[in-house]
Amino acid sequence: MITVEHLAKAVGEDKLPVLRDISFQLEPGELVVLLGASGSGKSTLLRCLALREKWDKGNFRVDGVNVRGNMFTGRRKIRREWAYLEQNAELNPNRTALKNVLIGQSSQTPLWRMVTGMVRSDDYMGAMDELDLLGLLDKAKMKTSQLSGGERQRVAIARALVHGAKVILADEPVTGLDPKTAESVLETLRKLCKETGLTVVTVLPLELAERYATRLWVLEDGKIKHDVKGRRLTSQERIHL
Ligand code: ADP
Ligand code: MG
Repeated sequence: MITVEHLAKAVGEDKLPVLRDISFQLEPGELVVLLGASGSGKSTLLRCLALREKWDKGNFRVDGVNVRGNMFTGRRKIRREWAYLEQNAELNPNRTALKNVLIGQSSQTPLWRMVTGMVRSDDYMGAMDELDLLGLLDKAKMKTSQLSGGERQRVAIARALVHGAKVILADEPVTGLDPKTAESVLETLRKLCKETGLTVVTVLPLELAERYATRLWVLEDGKIKHDVKGRRLTSQERIHL
């Protein structure tokens, strides 16, 4: 379980308070979509949760462990078990899609495997399955530098899944994808949330958010202004989107 209490963060030289007071609890299996006007702090919040940025104030606990206070258990857990997918997925451009999926991020992969590139055959099967699920089977042997942005996003998702990520933080993972592919990516994530307890926090366009999310957060004035489960937003709730 993830608990955030009164998280605040100001950015830039002017100390613009982007996140003022963010509090929530998240259970395994939730698929949360962050909504909010451009500049409302969606990416900043995801980066804080991914430990890519520091926050100024507030508590962040995972399974009861305070993340900031506990460098070892808290931070290590996040680095190993969570995957952060920024809009330009971080992949090794000189490796094929398949190798990227197999080798994983450095924090998730033993050093010998990073160096030798050696994999077990059941890992190979698992990687091909995920690539297939995400519509990338025919791209498996291509270098990721030759893939489109949307394809790279999907390779990054496949990689997170193969390495058993428990939490995926994905910033606009379907932007630039054609509608059919976007839907298949979101179907896959939703199914995994339901069946395996994977937790996803992501940013999507409103229409897809309402179809796939189990929970919608509307960010406004640095707060979660609306926290909605199991229904669409009212016209009042979507007024600033
Ligand atoms: P969103 O993803 O909702 O569009 P962001 O989290 O990217 O919003 O940005 C929120 C606000 O914070 C924006 O006004 C952005 O310009 C500003 N911002 C984010 N990071 C920085 C930074 N490192 N330095 C200065 N301003 C920043
Ligand atoms: Mg953003």
